[in-house]
Amino acid sequence: MAAPVYADHAADTPIRPAAVSALAGALDVVGNPSSAHGTGQSARRLVEEARESIAAAIGTVPGDVVLTSGGTEADNLAVKGIVWAARGTRPVHVVTTAVEHVAVLEPLRWLAERGEVELDLVMPSRDGRVEVDAVLDLVRDETVLVSVMAANNVTGAVNDVPALGAALADHGAALHVDAVQAMHLGLDVAAWGADAIALSAHKFGGPVGVGLATLRRGVPVTPLLHGGGQDRGVRSGTLSASLAVALAAAVEAAVADRAAEAARLRELTDRVRAGAAELEGVELLGPADPAWRLPGHVALALRGVHADALVFALDRAGVHASVGPACSSGANAGNPVLEAMGVDADAGLRLSLGWTSTVADAERISDVLTDVVPILRAAGGGFVTA
Ligand code: PLP
Repeated sequence: MAAPVYADHAADTPIRPAAVSALAGALDVVGNPSSAHGTGQSARRLVEEARESIAAAIGTVPGDVVLTSGGTEADNLAVKGIVWAARGTRPVHVVTTAVEHVAVLEPLRWLAERGEVELDLVMPSRDGRVEVDAVLDLVRDETVLVSVMAANNVTGAVNDVPALGAALADHGAALHVDAVQAMHLGLDVAAWGADAIALSAHKFGGPVGVGLATLRRGVPVTPLLHGGGQDRGVRSGTLSASLAVALAAAVEAAVADRAAEAARLRELTDRVRAGAAELEGVELLGPADPAWRLPGHVALALRGVHADALVFALDRAGVHASVGPACSSGANAGNPVLEAMGVDADAGLRLSLGWTSTVADAERISDVLTDVVPILRAAGGGFVTA
């Protein structure tokens, strides 16, 4: 049987060769980067060179780059850290969106439950995008934090972050942008006007377990981790030279072929979308204008077919796709992003392609969907009836 088609790059994309070499080449580096002796300082140099190269690639300065264990930690650090630094006697006002990743929504909901945050949620449009004006309508003079993702992990909808950053430039609120899915876009922290962003290496060809937050100096942040005071006291814990150089290699590789990859992926997903559009009862989700859609994402809803059953059937037929975020699948947590868009939350399917995807993959996905969907529908769509 042919090897399965991996169509879940939004959950985790294979590590790039450049990142493998960088990681392997630095795994045996000796020395704690915080030690004063020469061995430690050699390790430190690797970390700082990695930080410099990352900062240059994403439009920020090295001193604003804080290394983390991934996107979840980077999101938590920014949202909790900024809220706690602003804490006074009254709850802190925060604006975010109903379609954020749980790494943003859950810490904010937790803070709201504790009475520390007054939270306003912006609803998306039917295509999953968040309108800048809808965000600004909820921002008040005393708003401390606005958190809006650059691109949505379920629908691939891209938000106009530069316009939001420009609109908030003279406002005291800090702008946090979850950019975990956004490496396929031109990522430029300064041009976006973002005070904080979150990135995760395993979403763009680096290893799992490393990511970064950019935190603009001047925006007060209370650390989540207390200890040795590494990374300007914001994120304690021994710095990993090997993960830092692997992260930098993945960033460089992703930025170097971004334009070519985006065009290539767009062609592949156009094929998948065209194939899917032929299916009965299908709705292609996400913005119709490709300029506002991640190039590797296809999101669709199939009337009368349960997404969990479809993902299972696709898996058996050799196509590995998902209903949405990997963290909630298997837990029957529903699909809050689709719900917020007013789409049947049981019907959504996400196919996400990436740097290893080929034309043959795109064709196989279309063929398998064409085979599987009518069979599933004829069998009741995979819905469990009492
Ligand atoms: N933010 C978004 C938009 C994501 O898609 C993800 C992961 O799926 C995360 C945050 C969490 O990143 P990590 O898996 O590195 O913790």
